Amino acid sequence: MVEEGELLADQHPVLAVDASRLGEHPAKLCGEIPGPNRVAGPPIDDYRFLLTQVLDFDAAMRALGQEVDAELAIAVLEEAGKLCAQTLAPLNRRGDEQGSRLVDGAVRTPEGFPAAYRAFAEGGWAGLSADPEHGGQGLPFILQLWLDEMMSAANLSFGLIPGLTRGATEAIAAHGSEEMKALYLPPLVSGEWTGAMALTESGAGTDLALLKTKAVPNGDGGFAVTGQKIFISSGDHDFGGNIVHLVLARLPGAPEGVKGISLFLVPKYLPDAAGGFTVRNAMSVGALEEKMGIHAQPTCVMNYDGATGWLVGEANRGLAAMFVMMNAERLMVGIQGLGIAGAAYQQAAAYAKDRLQGRSADGMRNPAPIIEHADVRRMLLNIRAFVEGARALAGWTAIQMEVSRRHSDAGARARADALVALLTPVVKAGFTDFGFESAVQAQQVFGGHGYIREWGMAQYVCDARIAQIYEGTNGVQAMDLVGRKLSLAGGAVAEGFFALISEDLARAADVAGAARIAEAAKQALDLLKGATAGLKGAGADDLGAAAADYLRLFALVSLGWMWARMAAAADPASQRDKIILADYYATRILPQARGLAAAIEAGAEPTMALAVGAF
Ligand SMILES: Cc1cc2nc3c(=O)[nH]c(=O)nc-3n(C[C@H](O)[C@H](O)[C@H](O)COP(=O)(O)OP(=O)(O)OC[C@H]3O[C@@H](n4cnc5c(N)ncnc54)[C@H](O)[C@@H]3O)c2cc1C
Repeated sequence: MVEEGELLADQHPVLAVDASRLGEHPAKLCGEIPGPNRVAGPPIDDYRFLLTQVLDFDAAMRALGQEVDAELAIAVLEEAGKLCAQTLAPLNRRGDEQGSRLVDGAVRTPEGFPAAYRAFAEGGWAGLSADPEHGGQGLPFILQLWLDEMMSAANLSFGLIPGLTRGATEAIAAHGSEEMKALYLPPLVSGEWTGAMALTESGAGTDLALLKTKAVPNGDGGFAVTGQKIFISSGDHDFGGNIVHLVLARLPGAPEGVKGISLFLVPKYLPDAAGGFTVRNAMSVGALEEKMGIHAQPTCVMNYDGATGWLVGEANRGLAAMFVMMNAERLMVGIQGLGIAGAAYQQAAAYAKDRLQGRSADGMRNPAPIIEHADVRRMLLNIRAFVEGARALAGWTAIQMEVSRRHSDAGARARADALVALLTPVVKAGFTDFGFESAVQAQQVFGGHGYIREWGMAQYVCDARIAQIYEGTNGVQAMDLVGRKLSLAGGAVAEGFFALISEDLARAADVAGAARIAEAAKQALDLLKGATAGLKGAGADDLGAAAADYLRLFALVSLGWMWARMAAAADPASQRDKIILADYYATRILPQARGLAAAIEAGAEPTMALAVGAF
């Protein structure tokens, strides 16, 4: 084993090494390569631009009777940014290296994680957008989503823990009994306790109808839950406090399939006679999953051995109750793709400005910083165009979520709810696909150094990958979009959304800086409308073959719409970068819509023609 410093002495005997920098990569100490982490930090300026110039946040909140304006929102985001940059980001690399471990049946998270979690909870961040009735701060959901973005950028493994807790909180708030809410919601909202979601079994992943875990009434209103769940994020940890598992299981005699699944609240610690939670429930961690990424996140095999639980909502209606949790989680998972892409972009842009390789195109600099090479700029711009478009779309979706919860008019609530439902698979799958592709492109900017773990880019790639898989794979999200969401209200929800985009594009077309993106987005929207009409009444194979391309087309158009709004709102003198980026999106990214539309039009035949035996 080579000690720190020995490597430097061997490879660079003449190098005068600053002792405080021992352990850094030798090439960095030679001044050949920029160091990591010299980045812009939390995107507060972009949040400000979106809140004040694009999303009309103040007016939206006033219409909902919310006493929050952009100034307060920005102050909250600044504090959230400090927490992420100063407390969570410094633990990211160590978390990746140490990983969570199972010691004598108990999970040990990496050094620093328990203290960081306490700081997070004590700062009131766990209940940022939660209902004040349960101890939350009741702040707009947009702040929650952007906090999620910053947490994912800083430390994805950590961010999952409060994310799942929030999902559990929402499911209990929507479907739990009054007694259950009073007992469990305040400590979950304060962050003293955490939540976990236990659906998956070795034989039941996408198809939860196959699950086998059983729940048998124990005669006092509770149930004995028995079975094994795999891949359970934050199933156990060492942060102290209770861990509230929401477990899907079958009651005796329940109907086959999804109609026989119920949801149970199964806490790690049960209430004792004195009202404290000290009695260990009959559940244990069988193993920690060995994963490709998010190593700090304790992903558990959970054994429930007659563990005591209580029914959440109605018997055999567990999947509906669980969907409250899963929909909130799906938006959060989409934001994970955005967060990692943003962090990877910042590292790659900083690196590209310093790394000297090759002659500049004009021949004036040799070697030139690699940012001068068009191909490197292409990679950086691809990421940036996704990140800023997605940040805007996340903000718009979050405001719709707010309207769906708080508007005084039931019709307005229902319309906003339908739009959120339509966009949820697009955000989940679109953002995580672009997020992973962005992490790979950022890694590519680093050349070989991107493949060396020390630079952190490999971690981004490995961490970003999971978001395409969990919370329903991206393929399943695409099926949800074409199979269920397009037919919401007989297709009227999608049509309404397209009409909204058309109106905004028509307005943007009249603004000089936005005309090009507005025209390109309009052409792509026409292709999307055509593809949507083509899928009406299509058979299962046609839908399945088209789904992923259709979702990507939908995501491209939605981001193009946001770019048109941003370009129209930007001050051409002081915010010219937005207009340049909108033009990049219009000319370099939106043309992909043509290829996607052609692939969708091809139907199922090319995909289904090869016989199963020929694969
Ligand atoms: C790190 C990690 C953390 C996780 N955290 C949790 C957690 O906290 N709680 C929890 O309950 N689960 C969790 N999961 C499980 C995760 O949600 C599932 O792995 C995921 O939903 C896919 O299920 P599966 O692995 O069984 O794949 P499968 O369902 O076997 O799917 C395999 C492939 O077939 C495709 N496929 C399957 N069915 C269809 C269909 N009908 N139509 C088209 N394509 C289909 C899928 O898209 C996929 O590409 C986690 C998984 C991982 C790896």
